[in-house]
Amino acid sequence: MAKVVKFGGSSLADANQFKKAAEIIRADKDRRYVIPSAPGKRFGEDEKVTDMLYKCYEDITAGKNPNVAFLPIEERFDGIISDLELDLSLQNEYEQIIEGFENKLGMDYAASRGEYLNGIILAAFLDFQFVDAAEAVKFKSDGSFDAKLTDELLWWVLSGYKQAVIPGFYGSMPDGAIKTFSRGGSDITGSIVSKAVKASLYENWTDVSGFLVADPRIVDNPEVISTITYRELRELSYMGATVLHEDAVFPVREAGIPINIKNTNNPADFGTMIVPEADSTERTITGIAGKKNFSVIHIEKDRMNNEIGFLRRILALFETLKINFEHIPTGIDTLSLVLDSKVFEEHPDIIERLRKVAEIEKPNIIEPFHNLALIAVVGRGMKEQRGIATRIFAALSHAKINIRTIDQGSSELNIIIGINEDDFEQAVRAIYNVCILAE
Ligand code: ASP
Repeated sequence: MAKVVKFGGSSLADANQFKKAAEIIRADKDRRYVIPSAPGKRFGEDEKVTDMLYKCYEDITAGKNPNVAFLPIEERFDGIISDLELDLSLQNEYEQIIEGFENKLGMDYAASRGEYLNGIILAAFLDFQFVDAAEAVKFKSDGSFDAKLTDELLWWVLSGYKQAVIPGFYGSMPDGAIKTFSRGGSDITGSIVSKAVKASLYENWTDVSGFLVADPRIVDNPEVISTITYRELRELSYMGATVLHEDAVFPVREAGIPINIKNTNNPADFGTMIVPEADSTERTITGIAGKKNFSVIHIEKDRMNNEIGFLRRILALFETLKINFEHIPTGIDTLSLVLDSKVFEEHPDIIERLRKVAEIEKPNIIEPFHNLALIAVVGRGMKEQRGIATRIFAALSHAKINIRTIDQGSSELNIIIGINEDDFEQAVRAIYNVCILAE
């Protein structure tokens, strides 16, 4: 049995954090494959190594003295090596990287070096094999991730080692050029390695003790979610709850491998278990998340209900313009299109174009409303339960908050409520108080 363990940037920010990570790894012999991020912030104002690398690359390509520009990065890694009292020199690697920057190997190459160097240090400290992710994590020539090839290569390379460190965040293109995932992408590497080695568990070690039921910037001391399904997680992450990269769910989900979010600074905490399915529920509502900056386009047209193909014409326009919509609550002769407000900046003529395809003429109406916030109340326990919507709406009504849109899919996994942006924080608190605290 193998467990894959990924350590985020704050978990490997300095030698002290390295020691905590190593202790965790050594405590369980199944923790065989380790995915490091680049060193993150050691204190509030500190800079992440990934950000330093982006900046350094820009400076060097703009003509700044390469050795001077790269020095702070060298110092960061050399500091970790000497504090760990390792007999290791990265001098050759530094020279190669500086040369790569001078040869303009690209931003992705630059950013990836944080994970690469941190991986070498961690492998030396643990006495594990170092496997460069460029050898086994592959992208296609169009830049998309090559899941099949990666799965085969990783399995083939890693089955040769009992224990290995594979840096997160990057891989390589068919021509050998380095390519990274989007920011926070080491989570994705952890997930694809877990799938390839058929891990029993993917542990994602970070600096919080799991997913919180609500945003701690809005709600005081929200509870930790101990078990959440992949689908619930997807709903909450989509609505802004961050801890894990959105795309990290897919490879492990496909393979049915659970993810355990754990805290490097408090390893005894249970954290959050992300599982394919869960029968039991701790509470009816698993989490509350939300985002601002949405708009609604309200359309009213006589006999809309009888007009076959009406919605298709609207959706065809969205497809042509590559517009994503959030949801489309409908009435008999009314339709509301809930969209990211950015759509109005990118397509200032959207109302006119919709008016044309929907054939809206007076006295029918098409008008936009802005400054909408959406709140998703998510919970697998809501299915076939009575009274949840009543409680949510009562909570908002008591808080004197007007609800502008409501959406609940038949999966009954979530209820999405649209309110004025100004009411957002108060609405989240009101729902939390009634659905979580009072339960
Ligand atoms: N180091 C990268 C970042 O800061 C990737 C990661 O940490 O997951 O985005």
